[in-house]
Amino acid sequence: MDADVIVVGAGLAGLVAAGELVAAGKRVAVVEQENAANLGGQAWWSFGGLFLVDTPEQRRMGIRDSADLAWSDWQGSAAFDRLDDEDSWGEKWARAYVEFAAGEKRAWLKDKGMGWLALVGWAERGDGRADGHGNSVPRFHITWGTGTGVVKPFVDAALQAAEAGRLTFYHRHRVTGLVTDGGVVTGVRGDVLASDEAPRGAPSSREVAREFELTAQAVIVTSGGIGGNHDMVREWWPERLGTAPKQMMTGVPAYVDGAMIAVSEAAGARTVNRDRMWHYTEGIANYAPVWPQHAIRILPGPSAMWFDALGRRLPMPCWPGFDTLSTLRHLRTTPDLQQHDHSWFIVTKKIIAKEFGLSGSEQNPDITDRDLRALASRVTSAPPAPVQAFIDKGPDFVVAEGLRELVGKMNRLTDEPLLEHDLIERQLIARDREVANKYAKDAQITAIHGARRYRGDRIARVAAPHRILDPGAGPLIGVKLHILTRKSLGGIQTDLSSRALNGRGEPVPGLYAAGEAAGFGGGGVHGYNSLEGTFLGGCIFSGRAAGRAAAAAVQ
Ligand SMILES: Cc1cc2nc3c(=O)[nH]c(=O)nc-3n(C[C@H](O)[C@H](O)[C@H](O)COP(=O)(O)OP(=O)(O)OC[C@H]3O[C@@H](n4cnc5c(N)ncnc54)[C@H](O)[C@@H]3O)c2cc1C
Repeated sequence: MDADVIVVGAGLAGLVAAGELVAAGKRVAVVEQENAANLGGQAWWSFGGLFLVDTPEQRRMGIRDSADLAWSDWQGSAAFDRLDDEDSWGEKWARAYVEFAAGEKRAWLKDKGMGWLALVGWAERGDGRADGHGNSVPRFHITWGTGTGVVKPFVDAALQAAEAGRLTFYHRHRVTGLVTDGGVVTGVRGDVLASDEAPRGAPSSREVAREFELTAQAVIVTSGGIGGNHDMVREWWPERLGTAPKQMMTGVPAYVDGAMIAVSEAAGARTVNRDRMWHYTEGIANYAPVWPQHAIRILPGPSAMWFDALGRRLPMPCWPGFDTLSTLRHLRTTPDLQQHDHSWFIVTKKIIAKEFGLSGSEQNPDITDRDLRALASRVTSAPPAPVQAFIDKGPDFVVAEGLRELVGKMNRLTDEPLLEHDLIERQLIARDREVANKYAKDAQITAIHGARRYRGDRIARVAAPHRILDPGAGPLIGVKLHILTRKSLGGIQTDLSSRALNGRGEPVPGLYAAGEAAGFGGGGVHGYNSLEGTFLGGCIFSGRAAGRAAAAAVQ
């Protein structure tokens, strides 16, 4: 046998599983279609935001959180409605995961060298219902080093194990089939791809050099989701989200191709909840793309005015940073919007300076490089350098001193001029009237006041309410927003030991799945919605379970 256990995919989930196996004294083969430069997969590119509950960081910021509150939020967001079938394991995973996030998770990761910024972020502020979607309190803990800091301990451990001869990397090995013997998964087969020195994240050659086969006592599939495969995203796009846009941008490298899903199904695994996905509506084209149609997600504070392609303000709860999928649903199901693939932010320089974050390790060099001085310089009236670079070079940004000029420039970014100055001006004037007092009937303004009651938001994230048409807060900036594909919420159904299940709910002998390929646990730990920062942790939690269970199962 080539190894005790084969792990397919060297992303976060795979590396965590491999680490557990090595720690248990097992021989591991990590099979990965990309080259060694890509170790860590998507997680390396990530912002490194982690969902943690009731932490010292939260308490220091005056946030009172608890496992109960988090579980209530999770249930409101997940809205599990397939409990006797596709959600049966996802819901159990969700319970276990919230307990992990409120318990062992922080200490376990801290012990591996991770640490978090003092300011806890407030992602997915919710749909306005106490029992609906969203985080009641800030829980988004940004890891020092961003995604690179999250993967580092697991990459280091795998490299050390490789040096010690306990783990073998098979880079440029693409798995196209699982080997079975009497229904038991005993290995993998596939193509060795031609050598390619493409830099991290860049698409690589698919030329096949030869075939390969490896054998082991068990296989763990940690091959990620489907976000880089627009055909698959379209195939599974659910009716409740209307129609998929004609043009989407991509928030993940091309290797997030979803191909292992069918390979796992062919060996007997069941996939569930494939219609559940997590794509963002605040995508901007990267002026320096790494992968095809590379878009960056804006992590917006709550103050931007969000308009549809026809210049109408989006309704509650479709405000920046509140409710990702309600916004996607609104944009894709409103009849006269379906033919348009974009929407707009209009902001002042004052708003963009404080409220625009960009998701991704490379977009946050201060946190990625753990540069405290550079981080402190964010608290100024100027936009952070990466945001300024987008204002200067991004194809989706226009800047103007006055609204008429701005709308003219925005109209030049679309095939036909769809925006009317007077309509937008009326809505901005109406909104601006509401900032004169500390209270307002405009619900978005009220939400901004609410956000600023949280110290973290007031210091670093939410601009003091001001009139958007106030020239002193300008210039005005228009940002054309695209839908970018990112995460799959469904996947291979697994039990709490990450054992892949078949259509009868029985484990497929020898097969495990974890990370995004397994819907971050159980085939869909999130149900319909994520509370954010839950993906990296889901990879860690399910990867760990898979590694431990496979280690216990093999001799
Ligand atoms: C820009 C960005 C920002 C993000 N920010 C956050 C955040 O702040 N917080 C958060 O929680 N999540 C975030 N995420 C999401 C999170 O990073 C991913 O969901 C997670 O890293 C997925 O890890 P994975 O190990 O399951 O899969 P992946 O990282 O996709 O790894 C899978 C690996 O399997 C390999 N593979 C696939 N098929 C095969 C095959 N057939 N044969 C061999 N190898 C194969 C792939 O090449 C890949 O290397 C972000 C993602 C991105 C891209």
